[in-house]
Amino acid sequence: MEFEPVIGLEVHAQLKTKTKIFCSCSTSFGAPPNTHTCPVCLGMPGVLPVLNKRVVEYTLRMAIATDCKIARESRFARKNYFYPDLPKGYQISQYELPIAQHGHIDIEINDSNQRIGITRIHMEEDAGKLGHDPDRPISMIDFNRTGVPLIEIVSEPDIRSPDAAGAYLRQLRSIVRYLGICDGNLEEGSFRCDANVSIRPKGAEAFGTRTELKNLNSFKHVQKALQYEINRQKETILDGGHIVQETRLWDPTKNKTTSMRGKEEAHDYRYFPDPDLLPLVIDDQWIGAVKKNLPELPDQKRRRFMKQYGLPSYDAQLLTSDRELADYFEDCARRFAKPKPVSNWIMGPLLGLLNAQDKTIDASPISAPDLAQLLELIENGTISGKIAKSVFDEMAQTGKPPQTIVEQKGLVQIADTGAIDEIVSQVISNCPKEVEAYQNGKTKLLGFFVGQVMKKTRGKANPKLVNEILEKKLER
Ligand code: ADP
Ligand code: MG
Ligand code: ZN
Repeated sequence: MEFEPVIGLEVHAQLKTKTKIFCSCSTSFGAPPNTHTCPVCLGMPGVLPVLNKRVVEYTLRMAIATDCKIARESRFARKNYFYPDLPKGYQISQYELPIAQHGHIDIEINDSNQRIGITRIHMEEDAGKLGHDPDRPISMIDFNRTGVPLIEIVSEPDIRSPDAAGAYLRQLRSIVRYLGICDGNLEEGSFRCDANVSIRPKGAEAFGTRTELKNLNSFKHVQKALQYEINRQKETILDGGHIVQETRLWDPTKNKTTSMRGKEEAHDYRYFPDPDLLPLVIDDQWIGAVKKNLPELPDQKRRRFMKQYGLPSYDAQLLTSDRELADYFEDCARRFAKPKPVSNWIMGPLLGLLNAQDKTIDASPISAPDLAQLLELIENGTISGKIAKSVFDEMAQTGKPPQTIVEQKGLVQIADTGAIDEIVSQVISNCPKEVEAYQNGKTKLLGFFVGQVMKKTRGKANPKLVNEILEKKLER
């Protein structure tokens, strides 16, 4: 029997506001424990929450970017449960009336476009952070994160493979970063994902029972955990067992998921409207203002890159995955008007370098103007493509502009026919055996002669000229 996976993702994105969602405590990361707290976020009796307007604005950006329907009136609710990192005993979230619903984003999977539905986007507050002492049986609580604003983005169960889940997450992350509302860091937890997965016989309509996977703190883990879970569910069913709806924890060291707890139901939380907060009313004017200030989004930019620069979809997708990377490309392409070589040099050597140094584009040791200048030096024949790669490496190490490196190291390409002529003659008279063989039909030796000339000129001779002159002189 063939099975098909059904996947839906819940993403929590931490909003980059200066202050928390219901108080004026700082959201900045890394402060000593419990220094960014006040009676409101500590849940003292008698205090009242006040909604941070910027949180709503950021959420609206996301809602508009994903084509959601925005509720003119939405509500905050209390989600009640006890845990030491939740001092109030309830989390303020949105439940029955979320701010946004029924949106979508488009992803590229196996060269075709696929639309993934967004069920809802709502605002909520984060909980504190528990730390566990490895040596003593004690736990510590840091309430600095308590009340930091989050948006939860819930997808429809429209995703059909771990790869598609990865593509969806990357696209979502790219969008929040373009919008400037979240830094999208999975490792540091500012962008968190729970994955829901079930399987059904291929062709079936009804969904199977799902499990919810937690502790997925990288794209790789999301994909691996889903794959593991899909296989586990298949085996369970083929063995005659059935899937239990539950929350499972991904263990990245053992590469497996284990049962954590039975799945809680909404009614377990005793949701009810928070009486301390007024209904949130959003008018057309506010939506209009946010819409007007929205930047160009990844999808729009990708299509524009294909049209304006004639780039293949692969290049356009990669270059627009990150806003800074796209800016870098455009800066380069403005200075050197052949987009495809610009793209090649960025996707190949530059991203290779940044990857090796674990850097992002804004920390690139090679600036866009310098890369453009390097391409210009190749274009106008000052240096060969091969020399260019060594100039590139030197630029990466020293930060010097390419022109300076080429001058200081005497790397200017020899494009003087007379000079090359002379070297070719030397090579020919030094290798009589090879010349004879060549003239007897072993024309593959041309490469050998080219190599000799390059050796003598330390790679600086213009290869096209070398080939032409060699062929002429080697003729009988
Ligand atoms: P909960 O809080 O109970 O996890 P949510 O509505 O927040 O519920 O999220 C449910 C997620 O699970 C959504 O992303 C949805 O697409 C997904 N989902 C629902 N049913 C299934 C299913 N049968 N198989 C896979 N995913 C599912
Ligand atoms: Mg959930
Ligand atoms: Zn506070």
